[in-house]
Amino acid sequence: AASTFLTARVAPLADQHILILADDQTTARRTEQTRRDFVANVSHELKTPIGAISLLAEAVEDAAEDPVAVRRFAGRMGVESARLNDLVAQIIELSRLQADDPLRDAEVVDIDDVLVDAVDRCRVDAEQHQVTLAVAGATGTQVLGDARQLSVAVGNLVENAVVYSDPGARVVVAAHVQAQSDDDYIEITVSDNGIGIPASEVDRIFERFYRVDYARSRANGGTGLGLSIVKHIAATHGGDVSVWSRPGAGSTFTIKIPAHLNGAGTPTPPDEVA
Ligand code: ADP
Repeated sequence: AASTFLTARVAPLADQHILILADDQTTARRTEQTRRDFVANVSHELKTPIGAISLLAEAVEDAAEDPVAVRRFAGRMGVESARLNDLVAQIIELSRLQADDPLRDAEVVDIDDVLVDAVDRCRVDAEQHQVTLAVAGATGTQVLGDARQLSVAVGNLVENAVVYSDPGARVVVAAHVQAQSDDDYIEITVSDNGIGIPASEVDRIFERFYRVDYARSRANGGTGLGLSIVKHIAATHGGDVSVWSRPGAGSTFTIKIPAHLNGAGTPTPPDEVA
């Protein structure tokens, strides 16, 4: 089937030589298919909360005489609107990352600032889930990148760690420098002792809209976009994201990106921040 995507141009070169130029269009078509699937998925995902909100609006009208019911429906409308809001924000984030130069605002970024900002984004959720957040920074360690994107990436991992853990759990966010041949890399790890991910699913969780257990993840308010955003941001910064996980034991996600300048950061002991 792949050969149907190959176009060959035959160019005469010298008397008895010909040059065959083959363009593999498979990638272009796949990209186009991925884009179409994405639009279809986005439409579907947006329709769910929008449909719920309009049904709830009707229910509020019908229950006008029953203040308890009105309050209940209004509460659910709030949840669905928040979900809609998250979805739109994440879709915007993904499209920004696909811009021509997603790192046009690159600057020298202190990793500790990224960790603190990421944890701040998740503080309210952590309190709600009764999960403790601990940060072990790497003082003085810097990368060249987009500070906002990096804290979104780490924040998405922390958010998942909080959501997929039980009350009383502890999530640890840490950064350390890894020397690798001539280059130094920074590894940012987010570890939880939550529900974990089955081995058969680990390869798929970074796909857009993929959720291990749709019902469970949706009940947790997930969109299925968080990890694909993390993957894009890591790649934009010349790195990648990986995961170790065991069901029932927990998960550790690692973002690895090249360090900038003085990569030799001094590790600091974990500091309970929330
Ligand atoms: P979601 O918005 O559903 O959390 P993500 O893209 O962030 O979407 O994650 C994809 C799926 O990977 C989640 O639905 C969840 O099943 C699984 N997952 C992600 N992080 C964790 C974690 N720390 N522990 C257990 N499962 C996780």
